[in-house]
Amino acid sequence: MNDSNNPRENLDAVFGDISRAARAAARPAAGVTLIAVSKTHGAEAITPFIAAGHRDFGENRIQEAQAKWPALKAGAPDLRLHLIGPLQSNKAADAVALFDVIHTVDREKIAQVLAAEMARQNRRLPCFIQVNTGREPQKAGIDPGEAESFVAACRDQWNLPVVGLMCIPPVEEQASVHFAFLKDLARRTGLSQLSMGMSADFETAVRFGATHVRVGSALFGPRETGRKKMETEGN
Ligand SMILES: *Cc1c(COP(=O)(O)O)cnc(C)c1O
Repeated sequence: MNDSNNPRENLDAVFGDISRAARAAARPAAGVTLIAVSKTHGAEAITPFIAAGHRDFGENRIQEAQAKWPALKAGAPDLRLHLIGPLQSNKAADAVALFDVIHTVDREKIAQVLAAEMARQNRRLPCFIQVNTGREPQKAGIDPGEAESFVAACRDQWNLPVVGLMCIPPVEEQASVHFAFLKDLARRTGLSQLSMGMSADFETAVRFGATHVRVGSALFGPRETGRKKMETEGN
């Protein structure tokens, strides 16, 4: 964990860790996208990261993102905003309008509504299917046993632009087991991208093939509200 509150130093430190982990896995570091998770942090905390040239950011709540990001995006049109939190179908139109990548498609209803919204708004957003690899009842994500048929339905029935899989391992378990499982599932479903790894375990995730790591506190410092709360909260 990084203690500095200097955005550039924190970015350098996290990119350095990603490079080392990628090298250890004989992968190009450029194959890993660092998503800076800015949830709970205001525009004044985000602006220095944009000024430092960072372009991929993640938020987990639609309403919070709507309050912060239209203005920030106007100043940096090449920025990509990733939705990493649970999505309700009544917020799908807003999500498609504001976000650029969706990491949390996890049930039929949402897949259908998103596909319809993308067609209506003529915006095709790359989507990740969230898999509940730990089968935790309180956590979002499709059951691992249903994942293969769900991916097929998303692609073939609803024509959703599915690019990869996403997971949030149970906090009390070894993350690497879940990362390895997700990588294998991606291979079986013919998907090339893996959204996995947070501040505590992104280096492990890179060693297991993550193409997108979602890092909050190692970049922005600790959040005021508890992490558990932010992860399970709806929109
Ligand atoms: C908050 C959050 C993160 C970032 O968590 P840190 O531990 O602060 O890096 C990553 N992924 C999801 C889905 C989150 O909700």
